[in-house]
Amino acid sequence: MGEYLLRCPRCGRPQPPSALDCANDDSLLRTEYVAKRLTLREDLPGLWKFIDWLPVKGPLRGSGEKPVTFRSQVLARELGLSRLYISFSGYWPEREARMATCSFKDLEAPPTVERLMERKEGQALVVASAGNTARAFAQAASAAGLPLVLVVPTSGESRLWTTVPPSESICVVSVKGDYTEAIDLAARLAGEAGFVGEGGARNVARRDGMGVVVLDAALAMGALPDHYFQAVGSGTGGIAAWEASLRLIGDGRFGSSLPRLHLAQNSPCAPLYAAWTGSAAPQGSCPGGMYDDVLYNRKPPYAVPGGVRDALEGTAGTVCAISNGEASLARQLFEEGEGIDILPAAAVAVAALQRAAASGSVKKDDLILLNITGGGVSRVREELEIFTLKSDIEADPSALSSASDKSLVAEIEEILGRRAPR
Ligand SMILES: *Cc1c(COP(=O)(O)O)cnc(C)c1O
Repeated sequence: MGEYLLRCPRCGRPQPPSALDCANDDSLLRTEYVAKRLTLREDLPGLWKFIDWLPVKGPLRGSGEKPVTFRSQVLARELGLSRLYISFSGYWPEREARMATCSFKDLEAPPTVERLMERKEGQALVVASAGNTARAFAQAASAAGLPLVLVVPTSGESRLWTTVPPSESICVVSVKGDYTEAIDLAARLAGEAGFVGEGGARNVARRDGMGVVVLDAALAMGALPDHYFQAVGSGTGGIAAWEASLRLIGDGRFGSSLPRLHLAQNSPCAPLYAAWTGSAAPQGSCPGGMYDDVLYNRKPPYAVPGGVRDALEGTAGTVCAISNGEASLARQLFEEGEGIDILPAAAVAVAALQRAAASGSVKKDDLILLNITGGGVSRVREELEIFTLKSDIEADPSALSSASDKSLVAEIEEILGRRAPR
């Protein structure tokens, strides 16, 4: 099991095991595992094979598929690359990929849910999302029977589905407002007694779960890649890839140089690109008109110690901004070449690789890892049963903004309590 210490990368002090922040500064805390050498636990299913480097005591049964890594033939040839590997997070049974909510949020949710269950505090987890994150947490919480509150803008309700019957201990709160208002309401709810937020990029279970992409790939390739390509919104996956690579260097068997991070955003709604290149921050209608709005995050963990900027500086990384047109062509190229549908976000990463190959910023024989962060939705629709989650409560965006108004908390507790006594 993953025995570890939480340490602040800035001040170097150990922190309490469930801390999200350092007591002294705003760094992203990092796990320091007792096992310095990665031993694959073949007896455990899915991503739990990497439990040595996950912050949990045991696996969450019924949840936690892992991505697959394979060497690309067709796309590699199209791009003129000889050593291109693809990490695929999604549903593709022919390649043994069975992440049923079809994105690499399926790597974050199971360790987060398991870690929370192990704390045995009985809190309900609060997640604001109407997309890949919500589906992944709904699926993992259903496996665990963990009380979960999904806070979604009304417009996102139809995107909530799972491939297992959703458990009775999920409460869907739809907010009569936009995504930002849903996030703000979720933050207020998470501050109430009996509720807890998932912590986003600050949660090591999320980051180390995503790190499995690099761990799985390094085992498949026999080495750390020279380059890592991923489409980012918050950039948490980039931080996770960097941290996992540091651990693999510590292991000693996978080389001693860090992969260069190539993070891709969708222009013009590209705050990380703006921050890294010093160009004007996006304004106006974002995320309206984006190729994939999962790639828009208003407050990415960029400048915090241990955040995206440190990850880019530590790896001589870059950020690029991809247009909708480039992404759309790249998606077609990938889907025809590799034979599986991918999420629009993943196409943005393909376009970034295509650009880097054309410009010579990656060389023909470089060892490259392309993170396909989501795909196979059309395969899921063909093969699995889809369960849609229904809204339980309609909330006003201003709910919980005054200390005297706790009626929403009472309503949620009634729903959770009625269904699943805690
Ligand atoms: C969440 C997500 C991303 C971006 O992830 P980061 O948190 O920015 O690393 C990319 N692709 C898909 C499919 C996603 O769901």
